Amino acid sequence: MIKINKNFENLQKNYLFVEMGKRIKAYQGKYPQAKIIKLGIGDVTLPLCSTVINAMHEAVDEMSKKETFKGYGPSNGYEFLRKAVSESYVKYGIEIDKNEVYISDGAKSDTANIMDIFDISGDVLIPDPAYPVYVDSSIISGRKIRFAKANQENNFLPMPDYSIDPSLIYICSPNNPTGSVYSKEQLKKWVDYAVDKKAIIIFDAAYEPFIVDEDLPHSIYEIENAKKCAIEVCSFSKGAGFTGIRCAYTIVPSEIQIDGKKVSDVWMRRQSCKFNGASYITQKAAFAALSENGRKETKEMIDYYRRNAKVLVDTMKKLCIWHVGGENSPYIWIKCPNNMKSWDFFDLLLEKANIVGTPGSGFGESGEGYFRFSSFGNYEDVLEAASRFEKLVF
Ligand code: PLP
Repeated sequence: MIKINKNFENLQKNYLFVEMGKRIKAYQGKYPQAKIIKLGIGDVTLPLCSTVINAMHEAVDEMSKKETFKGYGPSNGYEFLRKAVSESYVKYGIEIDKNEVYISDGAKSDTANIMDIFDISGDVLIPDPAYPVYVDSSIISGRKIRFAKANQENNFLPMPDYSIDPSLIYICSPNNPTGSVYSKEQLKKWVDYAVDKKAIIIFDAAYEPFIVDEDLPHSIYEIENAKKCAIEVCSFSKGAGFTGIRCAYTIVPSEIQIDGKKVSDVWMRRQSCKFNGASYITQKAAFAALSENGRKETKEMIDYYRRNAKVLVDTMKKLCIWHVGGENSPYIWIKCPNNMKSWDFFDLLLEKANIVGTPGSGFGESGEGYFRFSSFGNYEDVLEAASRFEKLVF
């Protein structure tokens, strides 16, 4: 008799954004005139840049003619895009072969699906707080989770704990939800740890395009030996506004071997079994985003969000509210004033200033007492939110 995978019972309810929505709706029902400013959800708001749009139109035209029509593409992505991605690493002094690049429909799916290729027996080490996909996909596959606790003392950048023996390690930098970014020295410690423990790092670099400080690493492969132990997942979602288009890529270095087996071969096998590739139109769009004009235009989008983030960071500085992020990341992570709990602060902000942010406790136990602001909104709204925030007395 068929049964549901029991591990699903161990998942927490998809509670965070549903509960936020409920509370916002209830407030709006009571005060329909209230102009609520939403700085909660991490979705982009600016439209795609013109270079990307033109490339998509051209790709659609190709699809309309017999001579240029495309059916199924390679499950690891078209060579033109894999080559462009590999070339995008050259500016960081990193050599990535185009055959080490695997194009997909999102970093969300890749960070979850990559687990398929590893035995479930080892522990997964995940930062707390974290992007919920790492935790949920570990639970679904029946894995044991260990947490690397982030807190104010470590600036929300937890470091390796040698008393734990993980087999998979998730690292997200720039981090969602905290906006904190690992330095090269800190990442080196993680790489050394992974090599020592014979573990694999899944490095989620979805927010890499927001890094501006020259000393900060854009890729884990800037760190010596990372190609022996790290798989890097990147996305066009946040940097080029592709959340609705869906395109990402994962780098699986050919050097990574387990018991004489190339991990990249196993990932290729997994992808060709379960995935039929991102659409041609999408990949043409991603290729355009990596072109010189595409980069110029997407940088303008990122700068727009960064300007929003600066307004929020400046506000926190002015009010002497403890915070991280916002400088090399679209997220600002603050300590709730007066030691308030995350949901209490959510209610207070909504009721007293009509501002919505995301309760930190929704990202894990260590997020309790903290709060995430996203800079993906409208500049004028962010200015207004900052002005309302300053008027609150904590
Ligand atoms: N990784 C992190 C850390 C994220 O915050 C997100 C989306 O919010 C993703 C991955 C998902 O990226 P994608 O849109 O490419 O699936």
